[in-house]
Amino acid sequence: MAADISCPECGESEDLQGTPTESGLINICCLACETVWQRDPQVRCPRCESADMYAAPVAVIEKSRGTQLSIVSTTSEYFCWTCDRDLIDEQRRSGTALMPDQLPTLDTETESENQQRMEGRDDRT
Ligand SMILES: [Zn+2]
Ligand SMILES: [Zn+2]
Repeated sequence: MAADISCPECGESEDLQGTPTESGLINICCLACETVWQRDPQVRCPRCESADMYAAPVAVIEKSRGTQLSIVSTTSEYFCWTCDRDLIDEQRRSGTALMPDQLPTLDTETESENQQRMEGRDDRT
């Protein structure tokens, strides 16, 4: 699941069930604690809340032993035209997938599997 959704009550991020509503919002139900909340499915920048986003291909890298990196696939990440303008320009210029290392906003899961379990990862800058 690409979207970063978690329950506002218990923090559950996997046992969630989304149901689209007629208004275009999505009702999310947490199966762990049965909290229901609504989510605007439109992608917004977590920093400036702009909905003007650009989906760029990002390489999915697997770190093999040592320092060898190999691209196993690509995924799409959304970037803000305002905050991530440089990255978007860079990607459009090169025409290739971005490397996760270049991205200030991306959690690189391959980097450290221990650290990513820590809570409270805010993009507060
Ligand atoms: Zn919950
Ligand atoms: Zn932004």
